[in-house]
Amino acid sequence: MKKVSELYAGKAKTVFTTEDDDKLILEFRNDTSAFDGEKMEQLDRKGMVNNRFNAFVMQKLEEAGIPVHFDSLLNDNEVVVKRLDMIPVECVVRNFAAGSLCRRLGTEEGLELNPPVFEFFLKDDALHDPMINESHIDTFGWASDAEVGRMKELSLQVNHILSKMFSDAGMLLVDYKLEFGRFHGEIVLGDEFSPDGCRLWDADTREKLDKDRFRQGLGGVVEAYEEVARRIGVPLDD
Ligand code: ADP
Ligand code: UDP
Repeated sequence: MKKVSELYAGKAKTVFTTEDDDKLILEFRNDTSAFDGEKMEQLDRKGMVNNRFNAFVMQKLEEAGIPVHFDSLLNDNEVVVKRLDMIPVECVVRNFAAGSLCRRLGTEEGLELNPPVFEFFLKDDALHDPMINESHIDTFGWASDAEVGRMKELSLQVNHILSKMFSDAGMLLVDYKLEFGRFHGEIVLGDEFSPDGCRLWDADTREKLDKDRFRQGLGGVVEAYEEVARRIGVPLDD
């Protein structure tokens, strides 16, 4: 599979068209951003680690019956995916309070959320990804009721699969963001699942092993991503 032309350069990945209208190539770059792109740095190896991490997780999800866009790993930094018509909505699932939930509701970080909290945000950096609800999605036509239902259903199925996977490896899946798109009429999980888009804590010490290390200037960002990858069995050095 070869790249034909650049379609879009996001904050962390570049999207390329291919000879196949139904396939794209995503390049995972070392660029790391936070606060809607206000803080930006290049972190060595991050693109490779996230590309391999994402491929591993997407394959686990596919094996468990989740429709995913992952097709094949092309090389260290690139992956072939199904070309989706992306829905401009971020689906967030939270098992423990952290981040914007604490800022919004004054909740103490680390409080267990049972049942898990599910939230929608509009994917729009200029507006700082505002929180939205099903009524906004319906009125503004971002997705149909059936699509909203499916995105919620799949997001919660992903929670069961991945909470167990990380828990078996000694970690808490605190929260995560998913993006979905349409592929020939079906809702399919797109974008990426990596420590850039989720929160993972060591189950014993609650040490942060995710992008909060970058947001909060804690250092050892890629080292933490590699530690998570090693614990769940992502092959990084073959
Ligand atoms: P951002 O747009 O938030 O800066 P990225 O740098 O990760 O994010 O850019 C990747 C872009 O590719 C995102 O806009 C994402 O919605 C989009 N994307 C991810 N997977 C697919 C896919 N399978 N088909 C089409 N677009 C995709
Ligand atoms: N998230 C993300 N991209 C976004 C917003 C959030 O990947 O544009 C992830 C984030 O890494 C965390 C979860 O979604 O795992 C919930 O994020 P939150 O709403 O707490 O926002 P934050 O505190 O990161 O601003």
